[in-house]
Amino acid sequence: MSYPFAAVGIVHSPYKEKFGIPRQPSLAPAAEVSVELLPPFNHPDTVRGLEAFSHVWISFVFHQTARRGWQALVRPPRLGGNAKVGVFASRSTHRPNPLGLSLVELRGIDFHDGVRLQLAGADLLDGTPVLDIKPYIPFVEARPEARGGFVDGPPACLQVDWASTALQQLAALPSPPPALAALIEQVLAQDPRPAYQDDPQRIYGVRLYDYNIRFSVADNHARVLEIQRLAP
Ligand code: SAM
Repeated sequence: MSYPFAAVGIVHSPYKEKFGIPRQPSLAPAAEVSVELLPPFNHPDTVRGLEAFSHVWISFVFHQTARRGWQALVRPPRLGGNAKVGVFASRSTHRPNPLGLSLVELRGIDFHDGVRLQLAGADLLDGTPVLDIKPYIPFVEARPEARGGFVDGPPACLQVDWASTALQQLAALPSPPPALAALIEQVLAQDPRPAYQDDPQRIYGVRLYDYNIRFSVADNHARVLEIQRLAP
């Protein structure tokens, strides 16, 4: 059986590449993400009443990795990258059907040019196709007593500090995106490095908006080294 679906919207996000995107929503609340509804769904009627909800479920396609296929067993980063669990016991992007599901805060709906949902802290790549949007219903869906398996509790975070060069570069940016510094700190605190890498000499780059943020990690500290402006 197969079911063809059409995207109802497209994601606009500061995350221009996979590396650095937090592994779940809400971990970097400074990420200002929006979903632009596509025709014929970009009519105010389709979202009438949605503003009354603080959070929404976003169903989407892992479009950037969709062609890579799937395997029955995967190695979740939370287990250090060695232990394996079943694909359906994981939130891996490599799934039989490459579908993602994120619960995100709905900050508002913009009707100026079509319909755009303003979201906070979404774990979504720029250009992600959105298949569906549904309101989150706390009395049914909030389950504080639920068991979280191998992801019981938030991940350990890195401390983040700034090299003086990076601070100067940040201060000199002509028109920085809102909350850029907070976003950098929240993203690096999640330790974007692959689970098996621990090389204090290594310099990484994470792309946020049109900036390459260069950083290193040592002794549970991430250090922002440089903010490079990329060609838009
Ligand atoms: N919350 C979702 C879920 O549980 O279905 C996503 C979990 S998945 C582990 C989160 C990762 O998906 C992010 O860290 C990012 O690397 C990746 N991602 C986000 N958008 C993507 C896209 N459009 N295509 C491929 N990977 C994507």
